[in-house]
Amino acid sequence: MNFNDFETKSAQDILQWAGNRFKRIALASSFGLEDMVLIDMISKLNVEIAIFTLDTGRLHEETYETMERVRVKYGLNVRSYFPDKDRVECLTREKGFYSFRESLENRKECCHVRKVEPLNRALAELDAWVTGLRRDQSSTRTDTPKVHEDADHPPLIKINPLADWSLERVMDYVEKNKTPVNPLHKKNYPSIGCAPCTRPVLPGEDVRAGRWWWENPEHKECGLHRPR
Ligand code: SF4
Repeated sequence: MNFNDFETKSAQDILQWAGNRFKRIALASSFGLEDMVLIDMISKLNVEIAIFTLDTGRLHEETYETMERVRVKYGLNVRSYFPDKDRVECLTREKGFYSFRESLENRKECCHVRKVEPLNRALAELDAWVTGLRRDQSSTRTDTPKVHEDADHPPLIKINPLADWSLERVMDYVEKNKTPVNPLHKKNYPSIGCAPCTRPVLPGEDVRAGRWWWENPEHKECGLHRPR
């Protein structure tokens, strides 16, 4: 099948196809709104798609509470991947606990240690991964296809079933299906990452404006999803 053909398919159809096509497949979840839509869809389809998360050690308490609510409600075994302890110990000893505020280079270093390296370990066990990326989340995600070869992690296939969804559609799904949601969303956090690198957004701001708010928009990726 030509991957372009998936552009007209529904999110559920894509998940069903992916679950049938790949034995080693998982959703990378930070338990944001989009992930909740996908977890709810997966639980209602006859597919085996695992869920994994990257526990950076700097997440909000509300995020852990949401993870636990999801685990209980859906009976899921969520796989957590942690950063390498030696690298975190080395980083904090050498540069302190807020080095990511000092420069873009330091911020990317922290994201690499706490997110990218654990993601690479998670992906090494997979043939395909699912994400909640949407095109209108930010200027770095406007070209996101629904299904494509992951050039950053060959030969994996990357599946973004909600690529063409709006935030309103996501919120509507979450409300109608009564999925658990991170309580921070009600406090104007549309996108939630690590606690020290996320703030609420102001009216009219981009949904990812609260992530690394001290940086320019074109830099607002942690290395998990590089702009195409
Ligand atoms: S989001 Fe912030 S705290 Fe989390 S890994 Fe990246 S730089 Fe480090």
